[in-house]
Amino acid sequence: MKVLVASDICELTPAWLKSRGVRAVLADLDNTLAGYSVNEPDPSVTRWMGELRENGVALMVVSNAAEKRVAAFCEPLGLPYLSRAGKPGGRGLLTALKRLRVNADQALMVGDQFFTDIRAGTRAGVRAVLVDPRVKGFWFTLRRKLETPFIEGERV
Ligand SMILES: [Mg+2]
Repeated sequence: MKVLVASDICELTPAWLKSRGVRAVLADLDNTLAGYSVNEPDPSVTRWMGELRENGVALMVVSNAAEKRVAAFCEPLGLPYLSRAGKPGGRGLLTALKRLRVNADQALMVGDQFFTDIRAGTRAGVRAVLVDPRVKGFWFTLRRKLETPFIEGERV
């Protein structure tokens, strides 16, 4: 399967997104926007979120984590979110599209897990970008090895 890869969600600039007709980014939370149990984004991510807002690109968090965790991150930022999203199922993404009033082809799913985030995108008919996790530990290295046969990566 061919999937777009990026090392960081911040590489997805408004210009890049707009050139591909992306009006809404559906982002995974843990290890995509922030490290696990980190409740505030890095300055680079904060800056990126501001650029999206200025350019009229919507951002919504679609996470499998519990409400409490997702709300703790999203509410101070005023970000819409969906917790317990049931990825790799596609229904959570479809709910997000409906809430943002965009079509599947106007959205982009971004996440650090191929078998969860990218699969959910495929099932919902939403393009997806696989990013490196914000914290790269032993499990990342192992998981990427397992994912690699399925991924024909093309850099953003
Ligand atoms: Mg994740």
